[in-house]
Amino acid sequence: MDKNIFVAVDIGGTKISIALFKNSKIFKKIRLETNPKEQPTKDKPHLIADNIINSLINYKEKITEIGIATTGVIHKGYWSVLNKKILGEFSEFPLTKYFNKVFDVPVFAFSDTEAAALGEFKFGAGKELKDFYYITVSTGVGGSMVLDKKLYSKSPNLAGAFGHMVVVSDGNLCGCGRKGCIEAYSSGTALKKIINNSEFESLTVKDVLMNKLDNPWVTELIQKSCKYLVEGIVNVNLLLGINDFIIGGSIGLNNRFFEEIQKQTSLISSQVIKFKKAQLKNDAELFGCFAKSAYFDFNDKYE
Ligand SMILES: [Zn+2]
Repeated sequence: MDKNIFVAVDIGGTKISIALFKNSKIFKKIRLETNPKEQPTKDKPHLIADNIINSLINYKEKITEIGIATTGVIHKGYWSVLNKKILGEFSEFPLTKYFNKVFDVPVFAFSDTEAAALGEFKFGAGKELKDFYYITVSTGVGGSMVLDKKLYSKSPNLAGAFGHMVVVSDGNLCGCGRKGCIEAYSSGTALKKIINNSEFESLTVKDVLMNKLDNPWVTELIQKSCKYLVEGIVNVNLLLGINDFIIGGSIGLNNRFFEEIQKQTSLISSQVIKFKKAQLKNDAELFGCFAKSAYFDFNDKYE
């Protein structure tokens, strides 16, 4: 039997997305809960890996390579958590080895933000760009960069971790332990905290950003949270000379939010800073895995 399937896996805080590629196209998608209610919360990495493996077992003989994008930190295939609130506390889980034992094919893993940036670079909003910085604003705030047409990665360091750039000295406490990070002001988690103390406490961040835009308090909320993002964006522009930014994530892609980032940037920077919206939405990480694969390299060269 021919082995001709590449598997891309995206492990997020709430959902796991799996895509099966054949002839450079996705022919099947599988969605799993990261934390199924019926499963214990202990020993998360094993449970997550086993759930993914079970969903793929019927394809075992046809799989040629597996790429995994995940939340948390990956170093040489070992997986550790950064935010203990999402998946509990664990470190150095041998993620790639665990899959390799079952499927006996090459397995690689990298961070979900790097995967998304790579996906946008090869297949989405970054296709025409030589250098860009990718920022995702959703539950957390993440960042990753493409420099000189290459994904810039410095494992095990968190190169490009935009959300943990401090923009307020001695500011709000962040999940990473530092104070004043962008994530502590502009993430979905930070916004929800503020919303919980307002008349909109029963609403989600998404509801507020979609349906309450006429309310002056909401306008101010968006302006404030974009302010911290914009400080970070201008810092990146000054530090690296990158002029192109791709914004993704459920909050970053909100029209009002995206426009506010552009507006405030033009007010505080004399540089020409350009913004694009991410194009691949929820599939960016999956396409990023595909772009990193040997399978893609082969097809890219010989197609
Ligand atoms: Zn932080």
